[in-house]
Amino acid sequence: MSTATNKSTPKKAETHEFQAEVARLLDIVAHSLYSDKEIFLRELVSNSSDACDKLRYEALTDSSLLDGDGDLKITITADAKTRTLTVADNGIGMSYQELVDNLGTIARSGTAAFVEQTGKEEDGNSNLIGQFGVGFYSAFMVADKVTVTSRRAGAGEAWQWESDGKGSFDIAPIDADTPRGTTVTLHLEKGEKEFLDAPRIGHIIKTYSDHIGLPINLVGEDGGSEQLNTASALWSRPRGEISDDQYKEFYHHVGHLFDDPWLTLHNRVEGRIEYTSLLFVPTSQPFDLFQPERKTNVKLYVRRVFITDDCEDLLPAWLRFVRGIIDSEDLPLNISREMLQLNPVLAKIRTGMVKRVLGELKKKAKKDTEGYASFWNNFGAVLKEGLYESADYREDLLALAHFHSTGQEGLTNLADYVGRMADGQEDIYYISGESLEAVAASPQLEAFRARNIDVLLMVDPVDEFWLSMINEFDGKNFRSATRGDIDLDAIGTAPEADDKPSAAADNALSSLTALLKLTLADAVKDVRESNRLTDSAVCLVAAEDDMDMHIERILRQSKQVKTGAKRILEINPKHPLIRRLADTVAEKGGDASVELDDVAWLLLDQARIIEGETPPDPAAFARRMADIITKAVSS
Ligand code: ADP
Repeated sequence: MSTATNKSTPKKAETHEFQAEVARLLDIVAHSLYSDKEIFLRELVSNSSDACDKLRYEALTDSSLLDGDGDLKITITADAKTRTLTVADNGIGMSYQELVDNLGTIARSGTAAFVEQTGKEEDGNSNLIGQFGVGFYSAFMVADKVTVTSRRAGAGEAWQWESDGKGSFDIAPIDADTPRGTTVTLHLEKGEKEFLDAPRIGHIIKTYSDHIGLPINLVGEDGGSEQLNTASALWSRPRGEISDDQYKEFYHHVGHLFDDPWLTLHNRVEGRIEYTSLLFVPTSQPFDLFQPERKTNVKLYVRRVFITDDCEDLLPAWLRFVRGIIDSEDLPLNISREMLQLNPVLAKIRTGMVKRVLGELKKKAKKDTEGYASFWNNFGAVLKEGLYESADYREDLLALAHFHSTGQEGLTNLADYVGRMADGQEDIYYISGESLEAVAASPQLEAFRARNIDVLLMVDPVDEFWLSMINEFDGKNFRSATRGDIDLDAIGTAPEADDKPSAAADNALSSLTALLKLTLADAVKDVRESNRLTDSAVCLVAAEDDMDMHIERILRQSKQVKTGAKRILEINPKHPLIRRLADTVAEKGGDASVELDDVAWLLLDQARIIEGETPPDPAAFARRMADIITKAVSS
């Protein structure tokens, strides 16, 4: 964040409008009937704790920033006479520009998501406040005016920010002797006096902020001071002394998420390298999981000192759903963020962490099928990115991967799929597409169903990418049900045999195939009789050497390929429509070609529509359709 006072700073008080989203947020917050208003204190203490972490880190390279005041702490003061509650810290503080930027716009993406979400709700559902944690602005749930004074570490000027939370805030220079750090004063609403009550404050801090590693002191009316929390970093305490609730509150603080952790992993590694990790896997899917930055969410500490929350090399991007901290005993404290990248200790920690997380997931998959299924629905698509990004973990990830399939309810893993393969089946069949509903309804699966052959349904865009790199599992090839020539004759349970078609019927069918090929010419790669269809008349498939149709669609949508490969049109020799057409060709010979011209194009367009594609010439499609319907109703 920039600390430069590049723009000219004001000499006297000035008023700023809040960014529109902030104004909306404040409106929701001020009118919320949210029942756990006490969380505002958690948010303010959390900000103060972060501010102290940042100062401690900056002071590693410039100890003068500590200014002879090295005991970082948070001080809460309650004053019944003025009905004010104050949360003060001697952390990094904010410059003029930082005050304007941080407390006038929405800094946190979670808060932005909250505003967006409540916009969709009829009455601005205030329960969501607890779910998202709206940060600093939550102060306006209990206060009708908030005053913030701040001096940034090392700066010779200090500022006061003040607002009643209604559209604008005032900012003014104040005495440069103001102590370093930030003081937030809440002018409590009449009905909120309970937050001045010392036992009540003590209870709130114990509940939500006990894990904070700095002392949080309460200064009473008589000026005496009492420490409210344990003040040792939660992860440095023995596991047996930490309650589930304490883990949970730490997760809220460090992860900026407000559900419960699904998995909590707290470990200390000793030996050649030493580190402690406290990692969480959320229960629900965070809103920013699929943002293009693919940012990981684990903070790095060195011997209890916060170093960075932006270290790409701490965990691979495909574990970005993991939240928490890693605290190393070996890394040098004054390591720059750039040098971190190259440090071999970090690489070892990373390997250790990945193994630990994957190992725990493996155990969960065995022990808690239901929980794992919901984990997989939330994060499976992210984990699968590792299949093509990290060859080292391919085996582990294939073992963790779960899929829907045509053969059974719920999820299956690959080992189970292989165990259930039909007699004579040698490949792992899959079909890929946009959604479970769409792929499950694909005509290309008809013959698989008829023979009781299970087909995996791949509906995450990432599936196409790993499937194009990984050919096999357990010696069995992955095979797309919509590509190449598929012969299921020797596999599974044979469906009831049809009467063998007569030689004449066979001939007629060949003539129809030839005619369709001639008519559709360049629009298709081939026309052939299908082994895949039992009920539908037609379908499209990709040639064996071409790209699977679904990935091609993804690439076309993202403009990475312009035109796709031509498809093969398969026709179902048993379908009444196809039989009827074959008869027509047999009766009329070459004369049928004019009559069947429209029909041929309609068949192709129909196959495209089933694939979820629009006919390339919708007007022609509509005209042909109208002509045929007209003929049908007038005959
Ligand atoms: P968040 O803390 O999630 O980023 P907030 O709305 O609570 O969102 O705070 C916005 C920003 O204001 C913080 O990111 C931080 O940069 C700054 N800030 C808030 N409180 C303090 C504080 N006590 N000391 C220094 N900076 C603060």
